[in-house]
Amino acid sequence: MKIVRFNEGRYGVLEGPWVYATEGPLGKRTGERYQLASVELLVPAEPSKIVAVGKNYLGHVREMGGEAPPQEPGLFLIAPNALLPHGGTIPYPSWTKELHYEGELAVVIGERMKKVPAEKALGYVLGYTAANDITARDRQKTDLQWVRAKSADGFLPLGPWIETDLDPSDLSVRTYVNGELRQEGKTSDMVFSVPEILAYISSFMTLCPGDVVLTGTPEGVGPLVVGDLVEVAVEGVGTLKNEVGRET
Ligand code: MG
Repeated sequence: MKIVRFNEGRYGVLEGPWVYATEGPLGKRTGERYQLASVELLVPAEPSKIVAVGKNYLGHVREMGGEAPPQEPGLFLIAPNALLPHGGTIPYPSWTKELHYEGELAVVIGERMKKVPAEKALGYVLGYTAANDITARDRQKTDLQWVRAKSADGFLPLGPWIETDLDPSDLSVRTYVNGELRQEGKTSDMVFSVPEILAYISSFMTLCPGDVVLTGTPEGVGPLVVGDLVEVAVEGVGTLKNEVGRET
């Protein structure tokens, strides 16, 4: 099932070209339906926090100058103000000269998670979507923390919807810039699997319904310029598309 959030914050289920409105993310259908092309898609989740894993694919560890894989997931937080829907314009701020894309599989939590072992972790997941962990790479290196580099307004395109029926263990994750393939990874190549990541986070931090977990980016990260169209395609989910514009 594909869960969409649209227009003034309504929820619905996508079937073919139709959005069937529902009462809440998993509620019953209201009887109304809309053409997908006629609705404004919103970010499909409303997280209290976004937890992201860095360096979770060996190829990306190497391109960032590392050698050995991390011993445990390397986490950082992204603030919800960074969220941007499918079709929204990624703002290119004046304070960076190196804005990078990072295509990733995103996990949306369905049930409150606290100290859940890996074997049971997937049972707490609502579904999966695509994310673009936009990063001001120069500021990531020069700022004391990654707040500006990762959590500026519009730095986290997420969507277009949540796919609930998906096995996250072996999905392709691809990023295209202006139609050209730049990143191609398989989630089976992750250093830490989705269940391992969720178990690790929930061992010390309660995950709440709607919270989002980013699972890391494959190798091939690179710069964007104003006017670029960047697409993140996650197998079994769909394609998240955004253009880059000058920040106003
Ligand atoms: Mg990332």
